Amino acid sequence: MITKTEKPTHHIERLHWEKRSRTLRVTSVTRLTPNMQRITFQSDDLHDFASLAHDDHVKIMLPVAGEADSFVTREYTPRYFDTQARTLVLDFALHQHGPANDWARRAKTGDTLIVNGPGKSMVVADDFDWYLLIGDATALPAITRRVEQLRAGVHVTSIIMLADAADKQASVTAANWQTQWLICEHDSVSDEQALLVTAAAYQFPPGDGYIWIAAERQAARALRAYMVEQRGQPEAWIKSSSYWTREE
Ligand SMILES: Cc1cc2nc3c(=O)[nH]c(=O)nc-3n(C[C@H](O)[C@H](O)[C@H](O)COP(=O)(O)OP(=O)(O)OC[C@H]3O[C@@H](n4cnc5c(N)ncnc54)[C@H](O)[C@@H]3O)c2cc1C
Repeated sequence: MITKTEKPTHHIERLHWEKRSRTLRVTSVTRLTPNMQRITFQSDDLHDFASLAHDDHVKIMLPVAGEADSFVTREYTPRYFDTQARTLVLDFALHQHGPANDWARRAKTGDTLIVNGPGKSMVVADDFDWYLLIGDATALPAITRRVEQLRAGVHVTSIIMLADAADKQASVTAANWQTQWLICEHDSVSDEQALLVTAAAYQFPPGDGYIWIAAERQAARALRAYMVEQRGQPEAWIKSSSYWTREE
């Protein structure tokens, strides 16, 4: 029970935002690393853009060729935003083929994109003793954003699976950040098994920890189940999201 003299700990707040649709203009396209396309957008519509959690997402609306007013949506993490400069940066992990991937590969200055959201944010207080962040290239924007936000000296480990070692990213952080990069070139179920094996070798530091996972659907599910069922991680202190789904 919390008494008046005790501070509440490990507060997790779920916020909902008014749904907003914004039309953005591409102002720069940069190949950050061989398989990561960074796209910067600008628009006066961004004057009130808000994103409080590192794993917020916007839905990008991609027109369906040949079908007027028809769109497919895909989810991307606001990597950076600046309401004064009215800019938003999204990082696209490039893969073989898909509407978002193809749009990002072809994007050029002056292109426009309709972006919805974020619709909600889950803000996890930075008062845990340690953090474990696990994911693949699609999770890199959220992981690097989180690492940059965390308080000075806190113990944070990330386990990140990439197809190419050249896609590793650095982050400027005051946290005590260690990263294990796992290079798997084959984009297969066995690669995701390797992610599970690496995560299984991780020794939890003392104290309370928060585990965040985002990866291919089966991998995210398996990692969550392992952490909760085998390692006893409290369900309230783990978030696991399916960021994409491998086609059977
Ligand atoms: C909350 C959230 C935040 C996300 N943030 C980001 C982000 O910031 N950056 C980012 O790059 N992605 C992010 N993703 C993942 C991204 O939305 C998916 O990868 C999406 O499926 C890509 O859409 P697409 O149109 O290119 O391919 P789709 O049409 O969805 O898929 C086409 C084919 O490609 C395969 N595929 C899809 N994604 C990948 C992949 N990454 N690697 C290999 N094969 C793939 C599918 O299995 C399918 O066979 C996020 C997802 C969620 C749910």
